[in-house]
Amino acid sequence: MSDTLFPEAPSASLAARVLVDGPSELMLDYAVPPGMQDVREGCRVEIPLRGRTATGTVMTLTAPEANGPACMKEISRLINAEPLVSQQLMELARWAARYYAAPLEQMVRCLVPEPVRQERHSEKTHKVAELIRKPGIEEYNRLAAKAPRQTSILQRLKESGRAALIDLGGSAALPACRALERRGLVRILEEAEPRMPAIDEDYEPSAEMELNPEQTAALAGIVEELSAKEKRPILLQGVTGSGKTEIYLQAVSHVVSQGRGALILVPEISLTPQTLQRFRSRFASLPGTVAMLHSSLSDGERFDAWHALHSGRARIAIGPRSAVFAPVRELGLIIVDEEHDASYKQENSPRYQGRDLAVLRAHLEGAAVVLGSATPSLESIHNALCGKYRLARLDHRADGQRLPLTRVLDMRTEPRDKRYAGILSERLRMAIDKRLSRCEQSIILLNRRGFARALQCPDCGHTATCVHCSMPLTYHLTEDLLICHLCGYRAIVPRECPECHSKGILLQGFGTQKVEAVLRKAFPAARLSRIDADVARRKNAVGDILARFRARKLDILMGTQMIAKGLDFPGVTLVGVLNADLGLCVPDPRAAERTFQLLTQVAGRAGRGDVDGEVIVQTFTPHAAAIQFARRHDTDGFAEQELELRRQLELPPFFHFALLTVRSERDALAAFCLEKLHKRLSRSLPPGVSISPPAPAPLSKACGQFRHQCTLKARSARLISDFVSGELAAARLGGDITATLDIDAYSFT
Ligand code: ADP
Ligand code: ZN
Ligand code: ZN
Repeated sequence: MSDTLFPEAPSASLAARVLVDGPSELMLDYAVPPGMQDVREGCRVEIPLRGRTATGTVMTLTAPEANGPACMKEISRLINAEPLVSQQLMELARWAARYYAAPLEQMVRCLVPEPVRQERHSEKTHKVAELIRKPGIEEYNRLAAKAPRQTSILQRLKESGRAALIDLGGSAALPACRALERRGLVRILEEAEPRMPAIDEDYEPSAEMELNPEQTAALAGIVEELSAKEKRPILLQGVTGSGKTEIYLQAVSHVVSQGRGALILVPEISLTPQTLQRFRSRFASLPGTVAMLHSSLSDGERFDAWHALHSGRARIAIGPRSAVFAPVRELGLIIVDEEHDASYKQENSPRYQGRDLAVLRAHLEGAAVVLGSATPSLESIHNALCGKYRLARLDHRADGQRLPLTRVLDMRTEPRDKRYAGILSERLRMAIDKRLSRCEQSIILLNRRGFARALQCPDCGHTATCVHCSMPLTYHLTEDLLICHLCGYRAIVPRECPECHSKGILLQGFGTQKVEAVLRKAFPAARLSRIDADVARRKNAVGDILARFRARKLDILMGTQMIAKGLDFPGVTLVGVLNADLGLCVPDPRAAERTFQLLTQVAGRAGRGDVDGEVIVQTFTPHAAAIQFARRHDTDGFAEQELELRRQLELPPFFHFALLTVRSERDALAAFCLEKLHKRLSRSLPPGVSISPPAPAPLSKACGQFRHQCTLKARSARLISDFVSGELAAARLGGDITATLDIDAYSFT
């Protein structure tokens, strides 16, 4: 392994294949000049390109092609002698680029963030001595006899592997280090001065808790995998409040005490402040060990955090999906918290799934990986059921509290006050009122996703669905048609409900602002705040609101699914869900799964203090499986039924879907190009791949561009990406047209 990690210094006859920075995806071969012994795969270099100097990353070192151009240009400068990217991360990028049909340059860019590529904020450097070879006994004795200073430095380095020159005696130690370097025992590196961002300071170290028997068994399973040769990913399925985080902390401690590193992925950071705090305080006694990689870091902080990990000074990285590429050294363990969370899927190019890449990275690095959730994704449950993953379960709350009581209100018959636009039932209004009078807090959740408009009958709850794949149909105003976005089926809009013949059949949907207005009208004296995507765009807004809510300066917190994540508010005794079934009306094969997860997660937010919690769910489809199983907190029951349905309907995880979207400022042009592309793909479709007819996207116009799309489906995602990326490259779209392929898509709007 180690000789692939640090290949022999290349001889002068080698050529380096360099991926040039920039959007053009150039991959060019350059000669390695004789004096440049240190070039390795993953190094950053300067190269001549069309009369100027460009920068790039060395992807491979090869013998130059025999019949290649004899006058290959030479690399002009080695930027970092130390490769910035490890072999395993390079392999991860290659694999991801192929699987997600994404340009390799984009994936490599994920590995080396912009400030690091630009070498910005690295003005201050210092020297570090690193042991590269241990002397033999004879050599050591000879050295000890005549060079005591070198010997003592060697002793120091034998313990730690590396040390800053300043710790070895400063510039006085430099001659001795240089002498060791000449002997080939040590190398001296220039590294960015450690300027860790404000970390760890205000945290009291927290002690490990004594684990209960369920937790003990789960941790033992993780420890067993850590030392296993053939490691299986671990699915940690534990109800909300069962003490998963405590297990993560102890597993990470274990790994760090062995001198290895750990990577913890969390959903959007502003929504998971508690998890971060708990990691910070647990490791507060080891200052600088934890590096946070969140999106609001400045360039300088990002540079520092990245180099702290890369140099091995920081051993633990915590961050959102992009942190899956964090340069943690000697990675021993990856944890993916709330592994079902859709925020692990990147929704712009490169469109990767962070959780899936975490599993792959663990495999490539020989690390263990834990996927934790109260409501795991059906992909992961499926993998556990068929033995690919090892299952660890926590079925009880660690604090011994009961799970809250969930009440489902049938909105078809529930009394509603006209003043509240049918949004608020009388019973939910009274429940909120009761909390206000007792100075307890309420969370009001709006289950709204995307922009899809579905048809639902307010009298019987009937939803218009596809006759082929039972997906909810989406209404398209321009065509006045209902369209299935998985298979392309089209239907005319019924004028009355096909079930109960009610003429009141309507397009569902109301926004968070409308709900806020209704709540303010119903509870004029209440202190109320809203969190949704609009609010989240303002810097720190979400964190401020959550902090105020935690400090009980707010009575009611309302918002979209964003507020259902990993939050722990002892003051909350009521959670109201306004339109539980609306999330079921989106054209998404995971709609039921997500609604189940949302309802279960949000129910876990109620009653974490001393008072029992209550959950009230308003719905037009009270018998929907997602709602009933969530009411009983029955993840196994839901998974069993939903997986069977998915198997029959050929949906994920049994089949992979990829969404092909063509965008243009001109509607007709986007439609025409997709039509052409679709014909081309249909002609050469490999066996096992199917394609739906082209259609306007549910969100037919966004950011000034019209969008048309079709869906590809196969048992293997690679079958789709290999096929389509080839065809896309050949299709030459031109103009303002862009075509994107979203493998294992999460959003079909
Ligand atoms: P989860 O991550 O599964 O939602 P947490 O780790 O947040 O659960 O634990 C829920 C609560 O239970 C926390 O307040 C935590 O401090 C407490 N807890 C966890 N493990 C134990 C334990 N072994 N003994 C007592 N309390 C515990
Ligand atoms: Zn009806
Ligand atoms: Zn369909």
